[in-house]
Amino acid sequence: MASNSHQPIQGMSDIAFPDVALWQFIEQRAREIFARYRFSEVRTPVLEKLELFTHSLGDTTDVVTKEMYTLEDRGGRKFALRPEGTAGAIRYVASGGEETANARIFYIGPMFRCERPQAGRKRQFHQIGLEAVGAPNPLADAEVIALQVHLLAAWGLSGAKIRLNTIGLPEDRAAVVKGLREAIRPRLHELPEEAQQRFETNVLRLLDSKDEAVKKVIAGVPPVISFMSAESRAYLETVIATLRRLEIDVEVDPSLVRGLDYYVHTVWEVVHSGLGAQNALAGGGRYRINIGGREIDGVGFAMGVERVIASLEATGITATQFAPPPPVFIVSLGEAALNENLLLLQTLRQRGIACEMELAERKVQAQMRRANKCGAQHVIIRGDSELEKGIFVLKNMADGTQREVELPELMELLTH
Ligand code: AMP
Repeated sequence: MASNSHQPIQGMSDIAFPDVALWQFIEQRAREIFARYRFSEVRTPVLEKLELFTHSLGDTTDVVTKEMYTLEDRGGRKFALRPEGTAGAIRYVASGGEETANARIFYIGPMFRCERPQAGRKRQFHQIGLEAVGAPNPLADAEVIALQVHLLAAWGLSGAKIRLNTIGLPEDRAAVVKGLREAIRPRLHELPEEAQQRFETNVLRLLDSKDEAVKKVIAGVPPVISFMSAESRAYLETVIATLRRLEIDVEVDPSLVRGLDYYVHTVWEVVHSGLGAQNALAGGGRYRINIGGREIDGVGFAMGVERVIASLEATGITATQFAPPPPVFIVSLGEAALNENLLLLQTLRQRGIACEMELAERKVQAQMRRANKCGAQHVIIRGDSELEKGIFVLKNMADGTQREVELPELMELLTH
């Protein structure tokens, strides 16, 4: 048992063999799909100025008020570990790094939120996300959702569902807030105290509350879209109609709101039944972010890699399926053979064969134990006497058979 002093910080994990094989598969597939849709990678710093997040995500949101890891440097400047990827990606776009009108970027990396650790909720988690920058256009929203569905299929993940709604335009916000408050006010006394505060500060967030008392009140409230302008309603209709033409199933859910302030128009969530209470695989939406006085429009999503993995595992896909193929192990007997085998090891690796050997003189049994442990399919045994005869003993570990071969045949057998 490793002692506690060797464990990472609570809510954070080491990701290592064999699990890491599934992470690599997920990332590699994502890169392939993003390239096909013409998105390119951006790697922004994990540490950003605090105000980047307070300004863009909204300073009454949970992420900003309760969950950010913040720190000050020696000069008193305030920074935060990024809790999400959009703010940094859009800061990069605003810095002039990409053509603002139609930047298409993706990111893969760790995010940090100081939440209470529980199943499905980590303090360092990982997201694969993308941003399609550009003026509001329902076809662009549908394109991004289509990409996301394509990605789920490329991972072999079945059973995911998309819930979609609209937040409307900023111009609608006042009417939506007013409409919701009017509908809720007669039953305000039924809400718990925290929800009554939310009623004042961020009434939209009551819609997706998990509290039973709040849910009961919300069930009687008209859908937000009924308070919105004709333009916002038409936008949502076009997104839905376009997705239908692309044969993508979505479920319109009037209670869906997303936690951050920057959203306009379309918002969505991808959920999976294999996940339990924290059932969201991904969040997405169209946004308008103000960065240093400049407004940038875009649409994007962020998928939680840990949750993608949990969903894949729930459907029976595991890391061992993606672990590298079993290697070849070379066993040496005698010093001369050990030295020659080192050259053979290098040759095999250069020919593309994953290969291991013991670099110190050890008993054959000890070397065979190591060969077994690494899962070797073939063991090459060469001692000083084989060396003299110019042969190798090749043992097939699956059936235990072994035979003597010369170099050309050995290469032929191992490379085919
Ligand atoms: P959000 O920006 O909160 O909508 O997050 C987008 C996605 O990131 C979620 O749907 C989750 O899959 C994942 N995610 C967010 N927070 C966490 C967390 N604390 N632990 C693990 N995954 C998370």
